[in-house]
Amino acid sequence: MKKISLLGSTGSIGANVLDVIERNPEKFQILGMSAGNNVDLFAKQIRKFKPRVVALFDTKKIPTLKERIADLDIEILSGEEGSVAVATLPEADMVVSGVMGSAGLLPAIHALKSGKNLALANKETLVIAGELVLREAQKTNSQIIPIDSEHSAIFQVLNGEKKERIKKIILTASGGPFRTFSFDQMETVTVKDALNHPNWDMGAKITIDSSTMMNKGLEYIEAKWLFGVNTPVEVIVHAQSIIHSMIEFVDTSIMAQLGIPDMRVPIAYALSYPDRFECDLPSLDLATMGNLTFEPPDFERFPCLRLAIDAMEIGKTMPAVLNAANEIAVQAFLEELISYKDIAELIHMVMQNHNPSPLKELQDVLIADRWAREETTKLVTVTH
Ligand code: MG
Repeated sequence: MKKISLLGSTGSIGANVLDVIERNPEKFQILGMSAGNNVDLFAKQIRKFKPRVVALFDTKKIPTLKERIADLDIEILSGEEGSVAVATLPEADMVVSGVMGSAGLLPAIHALKSGKNLALANKETLVIAGELVLREAQKTNSQIIPIDSEHSAIFQVLNGEKKERIKKIILTASGGPFRTFSFDQMETVTVKDALNHPNWDMGAKITIDSSTMMNKGLEYIEAKWLFGVNTPVEVIVHAQSIIHSMIEFVDTSIMAQLGIPDMRVPIAYALSYPDRFECDLPSLDLATMGNLTFEPPDFERFPCLRLAIDAMEIGKTMPAVLNAANEIAVQAFLEELISYKDIAELIHMVMQNHNPSPLKELQDVLIADRWAREETTKLVTVTH
């Protein structure tokens, strides 16, 4: 029985993790669970999975949570400290992080510091502090197992192979809802248009990121940290999202991982690694799929992808700045304070105004992150 600490249980990843665990009650036990502020759903999940310890990030909602689960004998923690405590429970065999945004960084680092294997869906952890995160993992010999479908695909393809034999990683992208839009059409994209993703059902922030292809940009950075900063990564648009990514090896042989677009597959793999277990999910029906198409990404229509690649090349604090600027810009777009095209423009401006500094400790990341948030917020108010 694997004992799991789940961070970010009320998000879409968290809900899928719990679904997989619920289907396999003899294999897993939820030991600790953390959430942001969705106290209603969190209370229901706690009642169902009965973890020993829970943490709610939003301290104001702690009284409500206490009331909801007053009849249960469960330790309730709060704030960032609470999430870190859940991430480092001594009895936990594995920590799974489905936290959204940069709030995922600190608990992830602490989980690795305490020697836990980390199943990671939170992109920001590696995007903003990849260098530091890897250093911590190496120190304690703990493993990072990716949950993001693309990185899970690469991780699966690498099984039994040597990292040094990779010629390049081929990172597939669905292209999002505006894959076929013209440059002009993208001028008038609304919040409603952008929230409508063709293949995956996800939260608002990641759906917008997917439509701008910033999501792929963040995944590009994530892939570099996970599979070698010097490993070439090529992004290719594959609208059907059937191939979740590929590796070309030094002998030009290309290996791919295919499957239905359902997050429970990479989640199940991360939980069962290095083994696999049965998933009661529909098989991929290739005959009805028909064609699989591939095309290069268009950096003109999707400037966010280029910005992310540039940020990784510049390195140091630049990816953290890219990520923070994107979070603020996407939020401003969702609140209809800026236009769709402004998202990339704002990020670009913030990157240009940033003087990157080396990542020696967590503080360096946090300072750059805060600076970028303030700078972007300032530009949102100045320009609008
Ligand atoms: Mg992905």
